[in-house]
Amino acid sequence: MPGEPESSAKRMELEKEILELRRARQLLQLLANATNILISDNLDYEVRLKNLAEVIVPNFADWCAINIIAPARLSYTVVTAAGEDKKKLAEEIARKYPPEREYRYGVAEVIRSGQATLYPAMPDELIRRTTVNAEHYELLKKLGIVSVMVVPMISQHETIGAITFVTAESGYRYSEDDLAIAKQLAHRAAVALENALLYAEVAEANRAKEKFLAMLAHELRNPLTPVRNSLPILAEKGKEDYEIRDIANIMDRQIAVMNRLLDDLFDVARATAGKIRFHTEDLELPGLLRHAAETMRPELERKGLQFSVYLAGRPVHVHGDRVRLEQIVINLLGNAAKYTPAGGHVTLECELEGKEAVIRVRDTGKGIPPHMLEKIFQLFVQVDQSLDRPEGGLGLGLTLVQMLTERHGGRVSARSEGPGRGSEFIVRLPVVPEPETKPGPAERRPAADEPKRILVVDDNEDAANSIGKLLRRLGHSIRVAYDGISALEIAQGFNPEAVLLDIGLPLMDGYEAAARFRELYKNSRPDLLLVALSGYGQEEDRAKSREAGFNYHLVKPFDTQELRNIINAWPQKTG
Ligand code: ADP
Repeated sequence: MPGEPESSAKRMELEKEILELRRARQLLQLLANATNILISDNLDYEVRLKNLAEVIVPNFADWCAINIIAPARLSYTVVTAAGEDKKKLAEEIARKYPPEREYRYGVAEVIRSGQATLYPAMPDELIRRTTVNAEHYELLKKLGIVSVMVVPMISQHETIGAITFVTAESGYRYSEDDLAIAKQLAHRAAVALENALLYAEVAEANRAKEKFLAMLAHELRNPLTPVRNSLPILAEKGKEDYEIRDIANIMDRQIAVMNRLLDDLFDVARATAGKIRFHTEDLELPGLLRHAAETMRPELERKGLQFSVYLAGRPVHVHGDRVRLEQIVINLLGNAAKYTPAGGHVTLECELEGKEAVIRVRDTGKGIPPHMLEKIFQLFVQVDQSLDRPEGGLGLGLTLVQMLTERHGGRVSARSEGPGRGSEFIVRLPVVPEPETKPGPAERRPAADEPKRILVVDDNEDAANSIGKLLRRLGHSIRVAYDGISALEIAQGFNPEAVLLDIGLPLMDGYEAAARFRELYKNSRPDLLLVALSGYGQEEDRAKSREAGFNYHLVKPFDTQELRNIINAWPQKTG
């Protein structure tokens, strides 16, 4: 038929067009997939590169290598190829013949010049020129290379590597169009990689900072413990001697201040890392606020401030973490005390406004200039930055207040008529409907101190002795040990009802000692009270203590009243 050759030519052309369209669609898909990988949350650059290489092969190449040569950072190669054998072969070549920086061809040259190269075909002669010896040549020949593109990865600032695209068994020959796609891919990869590297650096620095802060808080808390433990003794002696009583009071106040600073430092570090865990429950807010107010009353009154508390007459319930909510109010009252001169007035109020519980802490103090009202919630921001500020502080408290409020689904703001005209801090929290009246957990009132046999173990001898002395005064029978092994030995004859164990002990740490105590007394005293005394109070530390068999975990310097309550509330032992 006369028309046949023409129609067959048309069909071929159509088929070609369809093929091209299909490839164009594939390439678009490839770019989309690659972009998804590169912007994924997984910022580990090795994972990203591997994933990227895996979308390139086999859709866009049969073989792909990514070389990263960022000065002073890393040099890394990912290789994938269709089929396990090919993959092994490609990896062998990458291992044996990595591109050396001084090479005047291939990857090294592309990185140096920043210019991509395209080899639509790879004649034997070219392979020979780009291999270093006979074995290298033989290995490359085995790959059956058809076509190659080497494209630089150029980020905003520098060339940080190159991607090599190779076709083999598919028989496909790369064109200029493919090169354009490859360049786009390499550019996106470069930018994403640079971000990942920067992120890794920042994350590393953050980790180091967090570790340092945790260590700092721990090291600073440790020496405070024995001092704090000794205070009740001093205070008792001060019953007859007002000078001693005064000293004890000063020490107590200063230790409380230092403790609060350490807690804030520790909490801000953890909150910025999103690591504060909340133990939430339905809470009756006015009761909680009353408790916070009574905690702060002595400090406010000592400063010569009048302190008034007006709490909602009706019940206001919020869902939250008791300790953290108290911390919010204590921080605000602490600031009111700090920034209000003697003779001033501080007010704590709580009201229900629609579906919000509104807490207001107001003072008649030095006030806040309008342009600082929002800024003061930022980390380290203080209105007065001079070194001789009479109030001291680190500029952490309000940051923490804001973070904790927001974690409760609330918000905080500041108001002030200006310098000298007082300030008001307003915390708004969502309320929950009043819960059905159900019997709360049975409150165990601490009985009078019932004498118990208690073993105190701490390698800081001052700490061990001071806790021992304190408990002895309360009527308990005490033995003291300075390491875990001696503790186990002493226990043999002493048969303790409670063991207070420091965690950071030499030879055998507190966790191991606790586990051994549990094992030793598993039949004769299954209700042995084990209390961990630790400088670390993060959730992981508490969990580790629970796992080791501890009943309680106290963070140093702990509240001696809390220890006393724990010991008194512990079920009465027999034998
Ligand atoms: P710090 O009190 O340790 O400096 P904060 O984060 O608690 O840190 O407070 C930040 C700053 O906000 C303070 O330095 C102070 O300038 C200002 N500020 C906070 N509370 C008050 C207040 N009640 N009255 C006046 N200024 C305040």
